Amino acid sequence: MDFLICGSAAAEGWPALFCDCRCCVEAWKRGGKDVRTRTTYQLGDTIRVDFGPDSYAQMLRFQLPFDRLRHLLVTHSHQDHWHPGELYFRRPGFSVVAEENILTVHGNARVGETLLAAIDNDLAYFRLDFHEVRPGEWISLDNGVRALPLAADHDRSETCVFYLFEVDGKFLLQANDTGWFPDATWAMLRDYSLDVVVLDSTSGSIKDGKHGHMGCNWVVTARDQMLKEGILKPEHRCIANHFSHNGGWIHEELEAYYAPHGIEVGYDGLRIPL
Ligand SMILES: [Zn+2]
Ligand SMILES: [Zn+2]
Ligand SMILES: [Zn+2]
Repeated sequence: MDFLICGSAAAEGWPALFCDCRCCVEAWKRGGKDVRTRTTYQLGDTIRVDFGPDSYAQMLRFQLPFDRLRHLLVTHSHQDHWHPGELYFRRPGFSVVAEENILTVHGNARVGETLLAAIDNDLAYFRLDFHEVRPGEWISLDNGVRALPLAADHDRSETCVFYLFEVDGKFLLQANDTGWFPDATWAMLRDYSLDVVVLDSTSGSIKDGKHGHMGCNWVVTARDQMLKEGILKPEHRCIANHFSHNGGWIHEELEAYYAPHGIEVGYDGLRIPL
C-alpha cells in the first residue's frame, strides 16, 4: 500500500494565491516540485488524511477514485485542511452513492460541528458517519490498517491532531501543523519504532519558531531526538512536508539544507510504499 503526498503546501498554496514574492515567482518559472497544492495525503484508495480546497484537483491529478473512500481522517478544522462544503456533493442528485457506501469522517469536535452544518445535520442522507477522535485512542480502519491520533501544538482553540498509522506491521507518522510535539505525544511515541516520519516544515529557513509550526532546523532536531530515544528505526525515512513560500527556500534550497541530514523534501505526488 502506498502513502501518497497529494499536497505539500501550507494554507495559501505555492505559488500563493496573490503573491509575487521571490519564492512564488520562482515556482511559476520552474514548475514541477515547486508547485504545491494544500497538504493532504492518501493511503491506498480508501483512507485519506484531510480534505482541503485542492482535494478535487488532486483526485483528478492522481486518479484517486473518491467513491472508494471509506475513512477521512481530519487533523483540524483550518481551511487548508478541511473544506466540508465539498462533502455536500455526496447528496442524491449530485452523486450516485450506493446504500452500503458509508464514508466515516474522523475528527475533533469542531470538525464534527462544521461537517453537520455543511450537510444540513443529516449524516444518513449523505451516506456519512462521524467519529470524534481523542488523542491516544486507536481507530480501526480498512484492511487491518489502524490510526492513532496524537495531540499537536498548533491551535489551542481546538484539539488539533496528527496520525500514527500502522500498516502491515509498519509504522508511519503523518505530522504537519504540529509544532514541537507536546510532552504527552512524545511519551506515546516512545512505545513505537517508526519506519517513516513526515514532519512539519512550514517555516522553512526561519529559525525562531517551534510553536504552531516548525522550520527546517526544528525538523532536524525532532528527527535527531526521535532517533536518540529509539522512536525511529535506524533505517527510517524522514520526509519534510507542508511548506510555506514565506519560509524563504524553494525546493532545491530545501534539498540542499536537508540532504546532509538524510531528510527528504516532500512534494505533490511523492509516493511512499509501505
Ligand atoms: Zn496547514
Ligand atoms: Zn509568495
Ligand atoms: Zn493549521
